[in-house]
Amino acid sequence: MQITDMTALELASAIKAGEVSVREATESFLDAIEKRDGAYHCYNTVCREEALRRADEVQKGIDEGVYTSPLAGVPIGIKDNICTKGVKTTCSSKILENFVPTYDATVIRRLRDAGLVMLGKLNMDEFAMGSTTETSATGVTHNPWNTDRVPGGSSGGAAAAVAAKLAPVALGSDTGGSIRQPASFCGVCGLKPTYGAVSRYGLVAYASSLDQIGPFGRTADDCAALFSLIEGKDEKDGTSMVNPKFDLEKALKGEIAGKKIGIPEDYLDEGIAPEVKAAVLAAAEAYKKLGAVVETFPMPIVRYAIPAYYIIACAEACSNLSRYDGIKYGYKSPNAENLMETYIKSRSEGFGMEVKRRIMLGNFVLSSGYYDAYYNKALKAKKLIQQAFFDAFETYDMLLGPVAPTTALKIGESLSDPLKMYLGDIYTVMINIAGVPSMAIPCGFDSEGLPVGMQLIGKPFCEAEILAAAKAYQSVTDFHKQSPKAE
Ligand code: GLN
Repeated sequence: MQITDMTALELASAIKAGEVSVREATESFLDAIEKRDGAYHCYNTVCREEALRRADEVQKGIDEGVYTSPLAGVPIGIKDNICTKGVKTTCSSKILENFVPTYDATVIRRLRDAGLVMLGKLNMDEFAMGSTTETSATGVTHNPWNTDRVPGGSSGGAAAAVAAKLAPVALGSDTGGSIRQPASFCGVCGLKPTYGAVSRYGLVAYASSLDQIGPFGRTADDCAALFSLIEGKDEKDGTSMVNPKFDLEKALKGEIAGKKIGIPEDYLDEGIAPEVKAAVLAAAEAYKKLGAVVETFPMPIVRYAIPAYYIIACAEACSNLSRYDGIKYGYKSPNAENLMETYIKSRSEGFGMEVKRRIMLGNFVLSSGYYDAYYNKALKAKKLIQQAFFDAFETYDMLLGPVAPTTALKIGESLSDPLKMYLGDIYTVMINIAGVPSMAIPCGFDSEGLPVGMQLIGKPFCEAEILAAAKAYQSVTDFHKQSPKAE
C-alpha cells in the first residue's frame, strides 16, 4: 500500500513498527502536494524544509520513547486561521497576508507534544466566512471529486486535502458548519466538538461563542485519535473545559446497539435534494440493522436557525474584526495620509467583499435602535434552540440528519447570491448555537458521483458516543473507502 493511501492510524502503526520512517511519510505527502495540489489549491503555505527537519526530530523522539501518542510521526495539515509560530497565518485574507504569529495555538502545541509533523497551512474562506472557500483571497480550492465544484467551506482546503490524500488528517474550525459541510462535500469525516471541548487559544476569532477547532480524517477512528490529542481544558482559554466523559477506547469500540437515534423531521422537508434525503434515510436503515432504534420527531425551531445564527455570528465578527486597523498588525494601506485614513483605507483595501458585508451587518444589528429588534431577539431564539436540543436529548441518545441540503455546488454559483449560500447552512448552524458536538460522515454519492454526508449530533461532551456510532456505520459501509481519482 502507498503511504498516502494509509489512514493516519495505519501510518502511525507502520511508523511505530519501523516499517516506514517519519521522513518517508512526510516526504510522500510533500511530494504528493507538489505534484497534485496545482489542480486543487488546498494549501496556502507548504512548509517543506521545516516539515522534513521536524520529521527527523520526531523520528528520534519516537526511537527514544519520547513520542508515544496514537498519531506519533503522522503528518497533518492545518487550517490557515490557527496560529503557528514562525509560519504565516493568513486566514486567506489580504489583511493578514504577511502575518507571522509569534506563538503557537494550544492545539498546535498539543500536536507538537504528541509528535505530529505539520505539512502546511490550508486554504479557507476569508476569516472562515463562507460555505464554498470562494471568498479566499488566495483563490478557490477545487473539489477533488470534480474540480468544477467547490469543496464546501469554510475549511475547504482541509477537507479537500484529506480527500485528495494530500494530508492523512487535518485540523479545521467550525462556527456554523465549516468542518462538517466541507467534509460532506468532499466525502471525508469531520468532527465539530462540544463548545469548550477544545481550546480556542490561537484560533483567529470569527464568532467567539460559536467557534470550535476539530479534526478531519477519512475514518471515524482517525478523527477520534486526533480529537483525543487536542481536547481538554486549557488555562489560556477560559471557555475550555475538562471533558470527563471522553474515552478514546470507548470511541474506538464502535458500539451502537440499543441506542436511540432521533431524526428531526424538519431536516428532511422540501428544501433537501432527493438524493441527499435518500442517502440519509438509507443510513438510518443501516443503523436499525446494527441494533439501534431510529425514530423521527418534530423540531420546528429549525426555521429560526439561519436568521439567529447570522445575526449572532455577524455581531461577534464585527467586534472581533475591529482589531484589524492598520496599526496593530496586518495590512497597512500605503495610501493613507492621517490616522483616520489609515483605519479606513487599510480596512477597505484589506478585507474582501463577504467580510465587509458581515462587518456591516454586525454593526447594524448591534446599533442602538436595532439592538432589541435583531440582536436581542436572536439571543432569545438561541435560548429556544438550546432548549429544543435539551428536550430532544431527553428521549434520544443522538440525532441523525443531513449535513447540507445539496451536494457540492458548481464554482461561481453561490457568490452572486449570498442569501442562497446562507440558506445552505440550515442543518449545521443550530448545532453551534446549541454548543453540542456533531460529526459529518460520508453516506453515499449522488448520480453525478459527488459525495453525500450525514451528521450525527450528540449530547454535550458525548464525542465518544458519536465517534463510536460513526465507526459502527463505517464497519458496514465503504463510502469512506472510496477516493476521487487523482488529477
Ligand atoms: N457558512 C457559515 C458562515 O459563513 C459557517 C462558517 C463557519 O463555520 N466558519 O458563517
